[in-house]
Amino acid sequence: MAKDKVTAEWGELLFTDADMQERLPKPTYTELMQVIRDGKPLDLDIANEVAHAMKEWALEKGATHFTHWFQPLTGITSEKHDSFLTPKGDGSILMAFSGKELVQGEPDASSFPSGGLRATFEARGYTVWDPMSPVFIKDEVLCIPTAFISYTGEALDKKTPLLRSQVALETQAKRVLALFGREPHRVTTTIGPEQEYFLIREKDYQARPDLILCGRTLFGAEPSKGQELEEHYFGAIRPTVNEFMKELDDELWKLGIPAKTKHNEVAPCQHELAPIFEDGSTAIDDNLLTMEKMKLLASHHGLVCLQHEKPFEYVNGSGKHDNWSLAADGKNLLEPGPHPEDNLQFLTFLSFLIAAVDEHADLLRMSVASAGNDHRLGANEAPPAVVSVFLGDALTPVVEALIHKERAEASEAERMDLGVPQLPSVLRDNTDRNRTSPFAFTGNKFEFRMPGAQQNLSDPNVVINTAVAEQCERFCDYVAARSDEDFLTVAMRFVRHTFRDHQRIIFDGNGYSDEWEAEAERRGLANLRTTPDALGALVDPDNIALLERYGVLTEPECHARYVAKAEQYAKLINIEANTMCHMTRHMYIPALSEYSGNLATSVATKAELGIVSAAEKEIIQRITHGIDETYRLTGELEAAAKNAGSKTNPTEQDALYRDEVIPVMAELRSVVDEMETICGGDYWPVPSYNDILFYV
Ligand code: ADP
Ligand code: MG
Repeated sequence: MAKDKVTAEWGELLFTDADMQERLPKPTYTELMQVIRDGKPLDLDIANEVAHAMKEWALEKGATHFTHWFQPLTGITSEKHDSFLTPKGDGSILMAFSGKELVQGEPDASSFPSGGLRATFEARGYTVWDPMSPVFIKDEVLCIPTAFISYTGEALDKKTPLLRSQVALETQAKRVLALFGREPHRVTTTIGPEQEYFLIREKDYQARPDLILCGRTLFGAEPSKGQELEEHYFGAIRPTVNEFMKELDDELWKLGIPAKTKHNEVAPCQHELAPIFEDGSTAIDDNLLTMEKMKLLASHHGLVCLQHEKPFEYVNGSGKHDNWSLAADGKNLLEPGPHPEDNLQFLTFLSFLIAAVDEHADLLRMSVASAGNDHRLGANEAPPAVVSVFLGDALTPVVEALIHKERAEASEAERMDLGVPQLPSVLRDNTDRNRTSPFAFTGNKFEFRMPGAQQNLSDPNVVINTAVAEQCERFCDYVAARSDEDFLTVAMRFVRHTFRDHQRIIFDGNGYSDEWEAEAERRGLANLRTTPDALGALVDPDNIALLERYGVLTEPECHARYVAKAEQYAKLINIEANTMCHMTRHMYIPALSEYSGNLATSVATKAELGIVSAAEKEIIQRITHGIDETYRLTGELEAAAKNAGSKTNPTEQDALYRDEVIPVMAELRSVVDEMETICGGDYWPVPSYNDILFYV
């Protein structure tokens, strides 16, 4: 039978398990699987054989080069291409690829952000193959997913701490499961990242320096229509966009990326793609590849893909929901089973998540902090900057019952009373979807909704994994200290106490309301509104101790990451300020001057004819005042940005950008936006929100 289109395309450009089985000698394949599945060290002979098979496969697919594909602290991916070409010495060539080239690369680390690690150590950096992420072909290049580390082993990338946090969590979760009598081979995280994005016409993009330089509009009057008609969400997809989405799906399927759902989002021009979940690090690699493909393929359709968190004021920005769970040999640990004991295990893991989020809410908030995401969080379109957990109608009564039980112990009978055995069926039907909670239980997984659209999801998942690993260990210690008691009773007590002690983090109401902000403050939950407020958590001694304890980040690595993030914030705001000044001086002021000048000529001519034009005079006056204000504020913005830029301490610098630069940017924008509403359309130098958001 002929294969259907998708089956035929699936994984065509991915070196899959089936390819390896077909191309590697049996003993080599078996050894490689031990490396992949059990973390066994890789032997160079095996690496040579694997490299050879990969190269032969890649050459058959038309590849000419290979690259170590890695994720520096910029968050995006980096690559440097080397061809397989090797001269034989007699004028002819050979296409070669060695095990050493597969396993390790040496890019110069000095041009990537390192947060200062580079100053104290050698500039050299190493990329090291992550055999758990399959290699793939992109544009005739064999891409090898790698970790990026310094000469002395410090992580210089996003992937390394993620892999370390997965190891920590797996180790601790296995200890917990052993107490429940289970001995899975692997415990992995599962992640399903839902990616939001905008698609606009290339010609509009090209006409706006703010979009080109900053990825978002820094000016723009409110469009005549926004998202109030609620017609875009799930609406019919524009034909051009549909063509784009079809090509994207094809390309992703070829790479073995399980793209599943695509639809229009709430804002005009906004869309979403959700893949089927995969193991944590593969899901993140695939999300980065998806983002890259989106940008590239949009250009085939005369479109530009915007992945900024807030490209346009007045309509929703874009996030990336991080659906997270844990699986033991493929079995979801956040899926309650049919037996009460399974449900106790489920409730135990659930309690870990509650405690982890409550104790490390600051780190979680830090993990999603960026200049772009500051526009979304707390703006009534995305979760507030306060972290809380939503449990839903089915679970909340169970948790409440556990907390409020008078007696300290729960008997077997009580476990039944709690309705715990009924959980699976109730949860399966639980369609309650609270869209305003930052961390929501959605039936059999958690959905962390704070991450921004352009973020690398490693950061938040490092925090979740490490914080949950800590709770697992705490549980094991608690049980060990009570080894003379019945395990199920002890576990039940632990769960009850954990829920009781962390009640404050559970909130099922409307997270967008002002009442919740006030209530959260009463509960003592932090409300870290801006990136400079949030970043400090990364260098808080308790948090450093946590990350060090589980071997995820060392103290110097935490400090380096703090500096890199703080610098990134300052640089981004500085570029935005520069771009605003450029646009006002070179575009808006000349346009306003021309329009008001022409009006003045017209008023003068009319006056000669004895015609008095009150409206035109008023417009001239308003515009002249607007030009003065724009000019004045541009000068102020330049001075403020210069002052902030002159500071060398990143913490001090960020505070200045937040407190002294951003407010002037807002003032300047409001003056220019008002001018846009009265200036002649033909004179306005850039496409308006109406033009950009409502194209046909
Ligand atoms: P929505 O959040 O829009 O209602 P779904 O609940 O169907 O959509 O799923 C959203 C995402 O969650 C998808 O990417 C899906 O693959 C992922 N997902 C489903 N189950 C799990 C799981 N056990 N672990 C991680 N992600 C999951
Ligand atoms: Mg979702």
